[in-house]
Amino acid sequence: MASVLLDLPLRCRCGHVRGVGSAVSPSTGFRFFCYCKDCQAFARFLKRVDVLDTAGGTDIFQMPPALVRLTAGRDAVRCVRLSDGGVFRWYTDCCRTPIGNTFGPRVPMIGVIHCFMDHQADGRSRDAVLGPPLCRIYERSAVGPLPPTAPAPPSFGLFVRRTSKVLAWWLRGLARPNPFFDEGWNAPCSVPRVLTHSERAALR
Ligand SMILES: [Zn+2]
Ligand SMILES: [Zn+2]
Repeated sequence: MASVLLDLPLRCRCGHVRGVGSAVSPSTGFRFFCYCKDCQAFARFLKRVDVLDTAGGTDIFQMPPALVRLTAGRDAVRCVRLSDGGVFRWYTDCCRTPIGNTFGPRVPMIGVIHCFMDHQADGRSRDAVLGPPLCRIYERSAVGPLPPTAPAPPSFGLFVRRTSKVLAWWLRGLARPNPFFDEGWNAPCSVPRVLTHSERAALR
């Protein structure tokens, strides 16, 4: 069955920050589970370990920045970096909902975290909209046995597919606009808070 390209509502837990993911389908992006220590530390920083699965995994959908729009509550969007030069991790100040991860204003992808996608309002299941997760990464950092539903580790073919997909986003100009960076200056829309070594260490 051909996948239907529909907009997907985005929403923080309290509803202050809202947005839209355009034309979201399994072929729009790349869904995976990340078990890395940094994604776990981000959830701990937010005091939202409830967003992790039982082994500490985060369900992420990487998609092109141009297809993610914020429509309300931009004033509550915040950014944290676990180290100087680290990934830009975006969240909402109103209710500490993790939004997603970006590598910078020029990198053509945003890893949108599952809890910012409003599948309830959308009425379709996450698997139906995004397809099943394609792989898991950093499972060595998992904090428990992986759930039976955990996807397989990435194959080389999947790695190639993802690289060519991201390259295609870049070639199609989908790196811009990025909802988290100023169009002209490339400045982050909220000044990132960079954690100190001891702040980061406290999140282990
Ligand atoms: Zn909120
Ligand atoms: Zn991670």
